[in-house]
Amino acid sequence: MEHGWAINIGGGFHHCCSEEGGGFCAYADITLAIYLVLLNYQNVQRVMIIDLDAHQGNGHERDFIGRRDVYILDVYNKDIYPGDELAKQAISRRVELFSFTEDEEYLHKVNTHVEGALNEFHPQFVVYNAGTDIMIGDSLGLLSISKKGIIERDEIVWSKVRQRGIPIMMVTSGGYQRSTAAVIADSIINLNNKDLISLSGGIVSL
Ligand SMILES: [Zn+2]
Repeated sequence: MEHGWAINIGGGFHHCCSEEGGGFCAYADITLAIYLVLLNYQNVQRVMIIDLDAHQGNGHERDFIGRRDVYILDVYNKDIYPGDELAKQAISRRVELFSFTEDEEYLHKVNTHVEGALNEFHPQFVVYNAGTDIMIGDSLGLLSISKKGIIERDEIVWSKVRQRGIPIMMVTSGGYQRSTAAVIADSIINLNNKDLISLSGGIVSL
């Protein structure tokens, strides 16, 4: 919160809720981070989760059903795991994609809905779940987004949030190809090149 941004390249266990694990996720790090921020920063009363992993983020959604202080924007492939209808109640803005959606449509939707969500809710803290399992060839995500598209997606989110002066924490969540790590690294370098982060001034952790 003091630095304005943080990236945890190991986090984003968005299928786990406080009660139980699920889908490769053993603990509810997103829920925990939000509770810690709400507890320790009394000026923060509105938190947004921007979940752009290929899968619905049913873990944090189950934890925040009925909460007016947590706004969830979830963009996911509607054809794959988990299809959690109960958890969908917690989503403030739901964008369901068909399998094999490509860059142009995807980036247009991300741009429109991130902008719309931020204007609608005015969060004071943003958690960005930046799964790279949207990348073409991912056998679990089943979407067709290029490496360039992922880097552009991250830039869209970061620039809109940072322009508004809102602290952001990014977690990298799912991504199941050998090339995933390089895409995440390139995206973080791009954020640095665009002055959206400064690699000497924030927190990047494992
Ligand atoms: Zn995923």
